[in-house]
Amino acid sequence: MDFFSPELEAYVTRHTTPESEVLRKLNRETHAKILMPRMLSGHLQGRVLAMISHMIKPQQILEIGTYTGYSALCLAEGLAPGGNLHTIDINEELEDLVRQHIAEAGFTDRIKYYLGNAMNIITTLKMQFDLVFIDADKINYSLYYDLVIQKTAPGGFILADNVLWSGKVVPEAGKKIDKDTQAILDFNQKIQQDERVENVLLPLRDGLLLMRKI
Ligand code: SAH
Ligand code: CA
Repeated sequence: MDFFSPELEAYVTRHTTPESEVLRKLNRETHAKILMPRMLSGHLQGRVLAMISHMIKPQQILEIGTYTGYSALCLAEGLAPGGNLHTIDINEELEDLVRQHIAEAGFTDRIKYYLGNAMNIITTLKMQFDLVFIDADKINYSLYYDLVIQKTAPGGFILADNVLWSGKVVPEAGKKIDKDTQAILDFNQKIQQDERVENVLLPLRDGLLLMRKI
């Protein structure tokens, strides 16, 4: 969704720290070789994720939805010394590309990459998380939230991406609401009503919901 004119968007990006060489290459390769490259966080959102992670200095990060690894590499930048990022994806076809770029970015020892259904893998992770990024199948956002809220440290943060769903959360009159949109609507309302978290819906890119566990 484009809230901004292309010119304003370009201005915003020009006044944001550039992508590292590895991230620029991963961004390019994802667009050249992989289906649905729009799913990649990209320059601006990537720098926002890195900045948030640097502010938190998390010991343990969980990411649900690796895709080609772009957001994982951004979030890992802010890890505390000795910290780890755990990232999960169901798509095995992306494994080589992801592992190659984790290595190129020098994160082989710090990023743990799990292939499989997030629902199953999350339940096997026994650590507490200081930062969680929910960015996999939208239909399961509420379930992922229920699983990770218990594993989030008090004062920890949960982020959920694409919560404006290209603006479809405010449907045009008479238009049918599809399943994914309904799932996002339910999720956003659930968070708004959940007293365990404070939340801000940041209108960045496709909408980034920031939550702080009280
Ligand atoms: N976080 C990435 C983009 C993630 S795209 C970035 O910002 O660059 C969403 C990803 O979720 C896809 O790669 C898809 O394979 C994955 N996904 C979808 N359903 C899943 C499931 N049930 N378990 C784990 N991953 C899933
Ligand atoms: Ca996303």
